[in-house]
Amino acid sequence: MLQITLTQKGHNKPVTAMTADELYEAGRYAWVLGAKADKEQHALIVFNNTVLQAIEIDSLEDVTVTNAKGEQQARRAIHGAILKPGHPVHDALVGKQAPMPSTQNPIKYVDHPLDLTNCKCGCGQPVRADFLPGHDQRAIHDRIAKIGTVAQFIEWFDTTFDE
Ligand SMILES: [Zn+2]
Repeated sequence: MLQITLTQKGHNKPVTAMTADELYEAGRYAWVLGAKADKEQHALIVFNNTVLQAIEIDSLEDVTVTNAKGEQQARRAIHGAILKPGHPVHDALVGKQAPMPSTQNPIKYVDHPLDLTNCKCGCGQPVRADFLPGHDQRAIHDRIAKIGTVAQFIEWFDTTFDE
């Protein structure tokens, strides 16, 4: 998860008085986000060490901002959906203490169990991606073995698959 800490600086309206949409707009734009951010599925908007909002990330957009000196800077913005009560990430985190303490850096990467899903090979082990390393190969070869050899599998696939 991304943890994004807002400060009152730069916002006319008190952060704690913002509507959900205002908070989303203040929180999603525009940050220095590395490649690590592309793996994240959720963002938490934090103020005063409290999680005010949780977002499900759809995509990250490259944007250009102009700083106080008039210089162009490459930043990224979040596109996503504000999570509502009933969603496990919302219910576990919104209104609670932020997972990581605030520092100067507004962006933190949080390892959270709710980011884990079960490996798609069927082994049942928790993982942050689709598969544990090597388990995608195992899952494929298990399926090939059900048909027979690789040659038999390809023959079966080509006669079965309907484009
Ligand atoms: Zn597995």
